[in-house]
Amino acid sequence: MRVLISGAGVAGLTAAYWLRQFGIDTTIVERAKNLVTGGYKIDVRAAALGVLDRMGIGETIAAAATNMRGAELVDKTGAVISTMTGDEFGHRVGDDLEIVRGTLCQILRDQVPDVEILFDDTVQSIDNRPDTAHVTFASGAERDFDVVIGADGLHSRTRRLIFGEEDGFRRDLGMYLCVFSVPNYLGLDRMEMQYAEIGRIAALWATHDEDSAKACFGFAAPPGSVSLRDRAEQESAVRRVYADLGWEVPKLLEMMSQADDWYFDVAAQIEMDGWSAGRVALVGDAAYCASPMSGQGSSLALIGAYVLGGELGTAATSAEAFDRYDSSMRAFIRTNQALAVESARLMTENLGKGTVELSGSDVEATIARATKRITAASNAIELDDYVRR
Ligand SMILES: Cc1cc2nc3c(=O)[nH]c(=O)nc-3n(C[C@H](O)[C@H](O)[C@H](O)COP(=O)(O)OP(=O)(O)OC[C@H]3O[C@@H](n4cnc5c(N)ncnc54)[C@H](O)[C@@H]3O)c2cc1C
Repeated sequence: MRVLISGAGVAGLTAAYWLRQFGIDTTIVERAKNLVTGGYKIDVRAAALGVLDRMGIGETIAAAATNMRGAELVDKTGAVISTMTGDEFGHRVGDDLEIVRGTLCQILRDQVPDVEILFDDTVQSIDNRPDTAHVTFASGAERDFDVVIGADGLHSRTRRLIFGEEDGFRRDLGMYLCVFSVPNYLGLDRMEMQYAEIGRIAALWATHDEDSAKACFGFAAPPGSVSLRDRAEQESAVRRVYADLGWEVPKLLEMMSQADDWYFDVAAQIEMDGWSAGRVALVGDAAYCASPMSGQGSSLALIGAYVLGGELGTAATSAEAFDRYDSSMRAFIRTNQALAVESARLMTENLGKGTVELSGSDVEATIARATKRITAASNAIELDDYVRR
């Protein structure tokens, strides 16, 4: 079997690893020139940790975890109003881990050294025939595959080519998220600082011994009100929304334009009745993005890639594999997507009633409630042992 995966992110690299375990000939095409390592810290929980253990990289990931000491919540002026432990703040329970997105991608990439990655290219068209998926790349190359997997994120091109325009599947949650690197001028050492109010968050965070820190802005705004393509427009939206804030915000806004790892996206979910058509299937954010507000995006990508890879490796046909992938994952995805809908509701329902600055105890109570929900959702799947099947 020859499989093409579009996207070398968390889902794509993990799917490649599992397909290789079954001797499946796998190629990845990645739009970027190099592995995309931008982004904030992300959490890996419960069943997703089981996937990493099965890949034999549980310990490597644990050694690379952020191991945050804690978080300081500040008010508009920068005065510290509350201090929390890293586990409390990161919604972590038991063995849950937090890791920088780019570090996770690099470790996953290291597990598939023999997988061909076609960087700086993308799928131009897919002729999804009964006997083959004939793929034309933007570079002009043409190749046949037995299966094409779309692991190309929230704005998946594979999904658009096979299933139709993004608007038909995307549910915006009314929030935008922006992440970029700045010099670690506060000398933060495994500490996060955060200002939070209803509908607006600003944060700054660094791991141990890092010269750079990550700035993060999350804010409520009507769907469609900020371009997802135009960085200049995104920067002016962030400047406008945060213009009145003190603390470190003016300095972060000043440094924003220099960042070379700019990440800006809408918090949105992808809702589809089916994740496959003919020889093409979707995985991770492309299929069922739960949004950063779920805290489960990377865990869903790891688990989905494991299940899809395992089913393709053990089923008699790709159609049978896709059916089993769907039935194994559907309820789990629904439960996890519900997490973000609830978080978005909490962040946006009181908008328009003036600025509601959150006190330390408000934030702590919200985090405690969310942690309980995330823990239940992240455990809501039993993984099959495909390699032993
Ligand atoms: C740069 C970046 C920063 C992020 N930062 C955060 C964050 O701070 N917090 C958070 O919760 N989530 C973040 N996310 C999203 C998070 O990584 C995903 O929710 C989760 O890991 C699911 O992974 P995925 O592999 O499905 O999608 P992604 O991680 O989005 O990976 C998709 C991959 O596909 C590639 N790609 C896209 N289009 C094409 C195309 N047409 N052809 C070929 N390749 C393509 C992308 O370059 C990327 O490598 C970020 C994603 C990216 C890409």
